[in-house]
Amino acid sequence: MKKGIHPKLNTITVNCACGYKFETHTTLNKLVVEICSNCHPFYTGQERFIDTEGRIDKFNRKRDLAQANAASKKSEKSLPTETQYKPTLKDIFNQTSTN
Ligand SMILES: [Zn+2]
Repeated sequence: MKKGIHPKLNTITVNCACGYKFETHTTLNKLVVEICSNCHPFYTGQERFIDTEGRIDKFNRKRDLAQANAASKKSEKSLPTETQYKPTLKDIFNQTSTN
């Protein structure tokens, strides 16, 4: 091995967000990960959401807001005023045919 060109190899403990720890060899001094083979659904076989950044909460908030907006728009539309009423051709035809 050529001297003076290789980085220092450390034996460190990797900390996962799930609490699992394991040792590895790396040039880093510290390693913290969000997911590891102990908690990843592929390895555990359990389907669950990995929501480290609150993406699901953010999506649910946006969806609720959108539904509220749609409901308010609908309620505005469902109140027809007399000025908005325009007889359709069918209405006119029915009126003339009955007379
Ligand atoms: Zn983990």
